[in-house]
Amino acid sequence: MLNISSFEKFDDVLKEYENFNYEEYLENVSDSDIRMSLKKEHLNQYDFLNLLSKKAFSYIEEMAEISKKHKLRHFGKVIQLYLPIYISNYCSSDCSYCGFSKKNKIVRKHLSEDDLDLEAQEIAKTGIKHILLLTGEASKKADLKYLKMAVTVLKKYFTSIAIEVYPLETSEYKELKDLGVDGLTIYQEVYDKKIYPTVHTSGEKTNYSYRLDAAQRGCEAGIRSINVGCLFGLGNIYSEAFISAIHAKFLMDKYYDSEISISMPRINNAAGEFIPKFNIDDKTFVQFMLAYRLYMPNIGMNVSTREVANFRDNLIDIAATKFSAGSKTDVGGYRDVDKSTAQFEISDERSVDEISAMIRSKGYQPIFKDWEIIK
Ligand code: SF4
Repeated sequence: MLNISSFEKFDDVLKEYENFNYEEYLENVSDSDIRMSLKKEHLNQYDFLNLLSKKAFSYIEEMAEISKKHKLRHFGKVIQLYLPIYISNYCSSDCSYCGFSKKNKIVRKHLSEDDLDLEAQEIAKTGIKHILLLTGEASKKADLKYLKMAVTVLKKYFTSIAIEVYPLETSEYKELKDLGVDGLTIYQEVYDKKIYPTVHTSGEKTNYSYRLDAAQRGCEAGIRSINVGCLFGLGNIYSEAFISAIHAKFLMDKYYDSEISISMPRINNAAGEFIPKFNIDDKTFVQFMLAYRLYMPNIGMNVSTREVANFRDNLIDIAATKFSAGSKTDVGGYRDVDKSTAQFEISDERSVDEISAMIRSKGYQPIFKDWEIIK
């Protein structure tokens, strides 16, 4: 059994799985393999793969029961809420699945300090205290100085600031952390090294390895909360789910001080009209989410507004720990003035109040604030 945390870099772990035949393994998973994996307290990589197999779908109710218990034990009956704020949609990269891709003729916008302040004030009216700051991959236009300005403004209104921007150096993450950033989201999008260059055809994002190591640099910089994952639709769903999870596990086992979470974004409609080759249906999505929870009982799981309302609501009990609400994916979207083009279409347009009411109706408590840095 591979001891993944003994490797220095995650890329070294990936190399170990380069020639692994997922199809053959998954086809040969038996009922007794699944039953054995379900009985274990600590699952290894092969147990996790057993639960990703098609055969494991017949055990989904059992998986859901175990998952519920893990979730209750580690997180209680709460769902944390956050909102994304897009501050710049300029991008130097060409990602075939993204509305912000430089080749798309869209309305571009870059918030000034004053506009950002007004946008932040609008979001703060919802009561939300956790914010996720996003930019396109444009390190010259939205450079470190710009990011620092943005963090300083957001700090006035929010107690927790996470970033989802282009990959940075450890020292740059440290600078942002020292200013008040406590969360980093960085999706590899697709871990398959053959597919990656076919969907990231030019610009900064073509650098696979630099992106892959970014989460680890974030941990080394001391950022408290790190969120990884793949974008479902770009690569084979089984191998991508497996590698995303062992990436999260690698970080969890190596960096005890960081809280690691995993997200399962699926491709939504956006400018450029990308057609995903590898769809994941709702049932398989749920099965994978449960498999993640069983493999990593204390991992945070974020379900964004890419998913439709009813579907999201049903994930509260079984695995989700974090929800976005009332999200806008266009720059300046919350004030609804002089808007830019959105990154992708939102599937759940409910407001923060509506999402909070739904969470309460399920016997859970919506959490607006669970973190503040005290100096
Ligand atoms: S996914 Fe990121 S890097 Fe790629 S086009 Fe969109 S904003 Fe740019």
